[in-house]
Amino acid sequence: MTTITPEREAELLASVPTGLLIDGEWRDASDGGTFDVHDPSTGRVLATLASATSEDAVAALDAADAAQAAWARTAPRERAEILRRAFDLVTARSEDFALLMTLEMGKPLAEARGEVVYGAEFLRWFSEEAVRDYGRYVTTPEGKNKILVQRKPLGPCLLITPWNFPLAMATRKVGPAVAAGCTMVLKPAKLTPLTSQLFAAVLLEAGLPAGVLNVVSSKSASGISGPLMQDPRLRKVSFTGSTPVGRQLLKDAADNVLRTSMELGGNAPFIVFEDADLDRAVEGAMAAKMRNMGEACTAANRFLVQASVAEEFTRRFAEAMGRLVPGRGTEASTTVGPLIDGGAREDVHALVTAAVEAGAEAVTGGAPIDGDGFFYQPTVLAGVPNDAEILRQEIFGPVAPVTTFETEEEAVKLANASEYGLASYLYTADYNRMFRVAEQIEFGMVGFNAGVISNAAAPFGGVKQSGLGREGGAEGIAEYTTTQYIGIADPYAV
Ligand code: NAD
Repeated sequence: MTTITPEREAELLASVPTGLLIDGEWRDASDGGTFDVHDPSTGRVLATLASATSEDAVAALDAADAAQAAWARTAPRERAEILRRAFDLVTARSEDFALLMTLEMGKPLAEARGEVVYGAEFLRWFSEEAVRDYGRYVTTPEGKNKILVQRKPLGPCLLITPWNFPLAMATRKVGPAVAAGCTMVLKPAKLTPLTSQLFAAVLLEAGLPAGVLNVVSSKSASGISGPLMQDPRLRKVSFTGSTPVGRQLLKDAADNVLRTSMELGGNAPFIVFEDADLDRAVEGAMAAKMRNMGEACTAANRFLVQASVAEEFTRRFAEAMGRLVPGRGTEASTTVGPLIDGGAREDVHALVTAAVEAGAEAVTGGAPIDGDGFFYQPTVLAGVPNDAEILRQEIFGPVAPVTTFETEEEAVKLANASEYGLASYLYTADYNRMFRVAEQIEFGMVGFNAGVISNAAAPFGGVKQSGLGREGGAEGIAEYTTTQYIGIADPYAV
């Protein structure tokens, strides 16, 4: 494994465009404003980017709107090949993308490499989906007229992404929008915009025409979304982020009746039945909890373990958590990085402290780690009362609360006792139980003896307050199209 030197970091950072991408050109902000991007493992400034104003956002939409008609008419194969070239370019530069994500987000390099593979796959998947758009032409039931159904690109879209998966959250939206023939204004999270900046440069290199993708990184999120969502030229907002912001955007979207895709928060139950293979369950628990240091919407947030195996599962799980090595993501020995910022770490610790005060026991961890960066000890809490706040909120950190149940019925009830319904995990040797529980739990996704289920070919998304719509799979492209029906008169009658 190559050592990451400060020179390598500096060279990579210098290759990232720092401007706004509007109509194929990198520009400064209209008011000359900028903002800094930090390394969460050191607190040091990595780069200074132009900070888009509302005026810049409107200029980006002007460009998207001007490009839309011609872009919608391009051959699906042409759009597919741009995406395929982008897949090849991202893959060829996978070490750059991985290091950039590690620098701005903190995840260990090995995980960042995994995200490059996952994120790039949306480009390949949607390059394949771009040419698989099936309409229909059928005779009406009474046998006279014809029904022609076609799908058309929706039009200019606003894409808003979170900080936790800087590449995958962008490719999961940009990929299907390009495939469908939509133009875009992308607003990355201000904490981790560098990956999107580099990704946009790669898309231009792959041949994406000017104006199709515009990128407006900004320190003011609502300064971008506000004017765009009031603009009648915008057709859709696709948002990934927290439920409170999603709710607000849904309200804002109502004014112009915008199409929306909302990938919001989660509170994933990880259910372990007594017949489960405990080694696999612990391995799955580590993946479901610790991917991205627990800063994932799919992160296992509540470990519901059948009482007869709870002690054994908790012991083995705590041992595995205790073996993790916190550190800067660029170090080869690091298996868990820092949290994104000081506020995030305080929130995690407040939940842990309240759970311990309510009677939980910290089997391992339970405290912040002193020193540079926002590190928190990997933590397992046993005996967490069922009404503890930590079981209700997204923890977004390396903390695993364990609680117990006696019967399958109780497990289902506890799992469903949440306003969220994104990912869930189920460990059992019994396939009948898997189907039975999957029928009853209100979650958009179920991992059966599997701790990581995200895949570009699968429909990702939630129910209840975890959101609306799906990303990935065949469903992903439909989010960027509208259905048009043409009724054709009886050909014998004319
Ligand atoms: P966030 O809601 O704070 O921010 C998400 C994005 O919205 C950022 O780009 C931010 O700048 C922007 N934003 C914030 N306030 C806004 C406003 N008033 N108007 C318009 N835009 C606004 O979320 P975050 O902290 O970046 O990400 C973590 C959250 O994202 C967690 O809740 C996590 O579960 C969720 N998430 C969901 C999925 C999913 O697919 N369901 C995936 C990843 C993350």
